[in-house]
Amino acid sequence: MSKLTFICEVCGGLVQGPLISLDRRIEELTPSDPASQTPGSLFISSSESLHHYCSHSCWQTHEPEVAAILKLSTVYTASGLVTPCSRCGTLVQRDSPYVCYALTEILLEGEDPPIGHCVDDQDFAVLCNDCEPPGPLAESSEIRLDELTLA
Ligand SMILES: [Zn+2]
Ligand SMILES: [Zn+2]
Repeated sequence: MSKLTFICEVCGGLVQGPLISLDRRIEELTPSDPASQTPGSLFISSSESLHHYCSHSCWQTHEPEVAAILKLSTVYTASGLVTPCSRCGTLVQRDSPYVCYALTEILLEGEDPPIGHCVDDQDFAVLCNDCEPPGPLAESSEIRLDELTLA
């Protein structure tokens, strides 16, 4: 029987505690009340896990490189209904589909297969449709490559 294991991409260690995952998602917000402009429920139509880390410090080691590949000018965008694009600053209307890179923290419980509970979820970057259309990630996309190995 194969056991599901995750290897940290930065230190190469086996992930023992919560798994930190960088996900690329296509999502859209449904405002709770159109008049109030407050975010309501989030609909995630696609989610792809790109990179795994064993700890926040390993992620932080990697973070500048990820931000450079994605050409981000700002990170950890505030979550409102209208958010500036993390690359170009154009306002993103989050009630239509857009690309979001999110950092999730998943607690793995049990084995064969473990069940993941999401304990933390943070928007790392929100991109406007011009910077990255909300479609499948191109096979050639740099964020996919293991060029992400540290110098
Ligand atoms: Zn690590
Ligand atoms: Zn943009």
